[in-house]
Amino acid sequence: MGVYVHLPVCRRKCHYCSFVSRPLAGFDQPAYFRALARDLAAWQAAVAGGTAALAGGLNSIYWGGGTPSLVSAGAIVGLTGRIRRDLPVSPEPEITVEVNPESLTADWLGRLLDAEAVNRLSIGVQCFDDRVLARAGRLHDRRQAVAAVMIARRLGLMNISIDLLAGLPGQTPAGWQDDVRRAVDLGVPHISVYCLKIDPGSRWYGQGVTGDEDQAAGMWQWACDWLPQQGFERYEMSSFAWPGHRSRHNLNYWRFGEYLGLGVAACSFVGGVRYENTADYEAYLLPSPDRRQAVECRPEDLQFEFIFLRLRTGEGLDRNEYRQYWRQPLPPGVEAALEWAVEQGLAGVGQADGSWRLTGKGFMFSNQVFSRILRQME
Ligand code: SF4
Repeated sequence: MGVYVHLPVCRRKCHYCSFVSRPLAGFDQPAYFRALARDLAAWQAAVAGGTAALAGGLNSIYWGGGTPSLVSAGAIVGLTGRIRRDLPVSPEPEITVEVNPESLTADWLGRLLDAEAVNRLSIGVQCFDDRVLARAGRLHDRRQAVAAVMIARRLGLMNISIDLLAGLPGQTPAGWQDDVRRAVDLGVPHISVYCLKIDPGSRWYGQGVTGDEDQAAGMWQWACDWLPQQGFERYEMSSFAWPGHRSRHNLNYWRFGEYLGLGVAACSFVGGVRYENTADYEAYLLPSPDRRQAVECRPEDLQFEFIFLRLRTGEGLDRNEYRQYWRQPLPPGVEAALEWAVEQGLAGVGQADGSWRLTGKGFMFSNQVFSRILRQME
């Protein structure tokens, strides 16, 4: 189980992004942290009162955004302490904080480290080409990206992840390969590689900017093939880690584990029920006890999600785990769809455990597999 905390603040919106975030000038940090504390207190009461029965302890805390590195270290330290005090957090949780290179400082990170409020850093690098970064509305350059890694290292924080984005306008296949090589050369133990997605509501979406999807897919595939040759395990479709450096927090999502979400637009999944917090920043600040709503989900929707998430991982989908979790076997139509995927070379079956795992080709064409499975579950 994990706890996610959303910090909806960015200095400026990147051109492809429509995440729930607001500019620094419109972010009332004290009011937002008061609302987070109320959100936490509501979960604490639900857990203590038995209305939210957690199946296990909380093994991870994840500060995401937005740009957590724009928020004061003291506020993050304070709420991390409250989360650890008020919820059943394990003694040594993984605590990840997302940062952007231009706003990370040694003083800020040092304060989090001194308070044991972070032990893993996720840096939004995206690429190392200054012209491509500027064109995408990113505020950092290559020098700052490298400096962010060095700041963490100098402070003794080695557990670092870098996000890279394939298919940004202006990026070339050769430039992308250079980006991925630079990330590896920096010696970080975790790299996530994504294809550019231009969100509805983003600046580029409004301007009708579209990326070259075929080129982006080819670039992404190159990274997915090359990173394992450099000693990284592909433990999830887009996630690569040295042995022992997988993201505990994200693995919990992909294993269909439970999680609590604090903050505007944050989701939770507890006791088989999905909850969503309001995505309205002003409404979230109100002292209302009803900032989260249960979301009605059909069992077959959740079952599909279970299959979809498991197949994203290197561990794959184990029919026995499915049966144990859902107290029913995998639908025969789903087994048939997976057998089709095996025939097409999109999936394989583990010799030892009989789990279905997508192949490299299967990850590339995962939409075909997922849509075939979905049709069987409708
Ligand atoms: S990509 Fe990250 S930094 Fe850029 S606007 Fe979105 S949340 Fe903010």
